Amino acid sequence: MTATGAAPGRKLTRNQSLVLDALHASGGPASAYDLLDRLRDEGLRNPLQIYRALNALIPRGLVHRLESLNAFVACAHPHEHGDGEGHDHGLIAFAICGDCHRVEEFSDPDITRLLAGWAAAHAFQPDHTILELRGTCGLCREGQ
Ligand SMILES: [Zn+2]
Ligand SMILES: [Zn+2]
Repeated sequence: MTATGAAPGRKLTRNQSLVLDALHASGGPASAYDLLDRLRDEGLRNPLQIYRALNALIPRGLVHRLESLNAFVACAHPHEHGDGEGHDHGLIAFAICGDCHRVEEFSDPDITRLLAGWAAAHAFQPDHTILELRGTCGLCREGQ
């Protein structure tokens, strides 16, 4: 898994690349403090440096925030998020396994349409839509 250079559009700063690479390397959700731990050797000492990088990566669709875990994941397929500037993000859905903490990112045009229909009917303007499914993944269920 190579993350460096995978970003479309504008170049990332060194800290942004470090944070994105660390997220890819973690293979699952990581908190800002997990990232800080991983990047201490790279000279990042301040949580603010992590948050600043994350706040730049999230609107570009390269990183998503998992609200329920208060953690971050690298986008599984940033090329599907439009122009890399976050304009075309639509619905993002995550299935989060409580056992192995594997996170599967997916999107579904039918769900997107349903939610957009609900929002239109209620004159609600969503900024972003994140769906989180918590449960047990197929691999863990097989092992049970
Ligand atoms: Zn994504
Ligand atoms: Zn699992």
